[in-house]
Amino acid sequence: MTTATGLSSTAAIELVEEFGAHNYHPLPVVAASAEGAWVTDPEGRRYLDCLAAYSAVNFGHGHPLLLAAARDQLDRVTLTSRAFHNDRLGPFLAALARLARKDMVLPMNTGAEAVESAIKVARAWGYRVKGVPEGRATIIVADGNFHGRTTTIVGFSSDPEARNDFGPFTPGFVSVPYGDARALEAAIDDDTVAVLLEPIQGEAGIVVPRPGYLAEVRRLTEERNVLFIADEIQSGLGRTGATFQCDNEGVVPDLYLLGKALGGGIVPVSAVVGNTEVLGVLRPGEHGSTFGGNPLAAAVGLAVVELLETGEYQARARELGAHLQTRLKALVGKGVAAVRGAGLWAGVDIDPKLGTGREVCERLMARGILVKDTHGSTIRFAPPLVVTVAELDLAVDALAEVLAELR
Ligand code: PLP
Repeated sequence: MTTATGLSSTAAIELVEEFGAHNYHPLPVVAASAEGAWVTDPEGRRYLDCLAAYSAVNFGHGHPLLLAAARDQLDRVTLTSRAFHNDRLGPFLAALARLARKDMVLPMNTGAEAVESAIKVARAWGYRVKGVPEGRATIIVADGNFHGRTTTIVGFSSDPEARNDFGPFTPGFVSVPYGDARALEAAIDDDTVAVLLEPIQGEAGIVVPRPGYLAEVRRLTEERNVLFIADEIQSGLGRTGATFQCDNEGVVPDLYLLGKALGGGIVPVSAVVGNTEVLGVLRPGEHGSTFGGNPLAAAVGLAVVELLETGEYQARARELGAHLQTRLKALVGKGVAAVRGAGLWAGVDIDPKLGTGREVCERLMARGILVKDTHGSTIRFAPPLVVTVAELDLAVDALAEVLAELR
C-alpha cells in the first residue's frame, strides 16, 4: 500500500540520502500523514509520536483549530513583509504579550533567530540603558546549553559536535556550570548585560536544575542590573505543565524566547517577549526579517495562544506528566539508569551496558513508538500534549519490553 504521493518509505529515504546534505541521522521511518499523537507511514504502519518534533507539535498533529486558522488565512493573505501592516499581526502580538504578562513582542521565525534577536537586544540595552562601554558587552550562558545552530550560537556551545570546525566565533560570551548560582554570581561583572539560560536544558538530556536555582538567577540578575533571558523555546508553551517552565519556579525573566510550538507544527514562528524598557531599545531599521510576523504565522500563532489561554494543555501536561514520570521511574534499575523531567517531558538514561540510546530508539520504532536519542545513552520522551494515558502506557510498556530484550 502506498500513500497518495505513491512514494514508498524506501524510496523516500533513498532520495533524502542521495540529495540531502548529511546533517541529520534520522530514524528510518517516513511520515506520510499524521493526526493527534499518531504518524502513519506510506505503507500504512502507524507510530505513536513520542517526540512531537522536539515539542513543536505540542498540540498534536493537525489540530483542527490550528488547521482552520491556517486554512482561513491561506485564502486571504500570507505574506506582506513588514514594509506594510497586515491585519493578523497586531492581534497575535497583543495576545502573546497578554499570555506572557509582558507588554512587547518581537516576532521572528525560527528559535535560533529568536536567540540571535535577544542577543542583539541585550547588547543594545547594555550600551544604551545600562551604560556598558561600547564593544564590551558580555552575556553569560551555561555549559551544556543548546540555543540553536547559527555561528554565534554554536560559538558559545560546549558541545564539540556543534562547534568544531565552525569558528572563528563571535566574542562576548562567558559560560558557567549549569545549576551553579555561585559560579554565575562570580562571573557577573560591570560589562555583563544578560544571563541566557534554558530553564530546563533540553538537548543536553532534559537536565532539570535544582529547585530554587532559577529564583537565585533572578535575584542575582536583578541585584546586578543584568537581564535574565529565559530560552523557553523547547520548555515553554505547555510542555512542562505550565505556560512557561519559569512559572513552575515562580520566576519572571526579562525576556522569554519562544518558538517551536508557537507555530502549531504548521509554520515556523518564534518570538522574543519582554517589556518596553528592554525590547523598546530597538529602533526602526536595526533588526528585522522578511518572514517574521507574516500574516499566516500570526494567524497560527494567535490560534496557539488561544489554545494556551484555556489552560487545558498545561493541565494535561501536569496530570499525564505525573503518570509518565511515575511509570518511567519504575524502570530505574531495570535497564534505566536515571529519569529526569517535568510535565510531559522526560529524559531517560539507558544503562550503557544494554546498548546506545539509538539502539533503543530503533527497537522502539520497530514496536511502533517514535522517540529520539540525545547524547549517547539518553532518550527523550516529549509526546504531543493530546496523548492519552493509555497511549503513554503503550510507550512505557514498549520501552520495558525493549529493555528486557536487551538485558
Ligand atoms: N533553543 C532551544 C532551547 C532549543 O531547544 C532549540 C531547538 O532545539 C533552539 C533554541 C533552536 O530552535 P530552531 O531549531 O527553531 O532554530
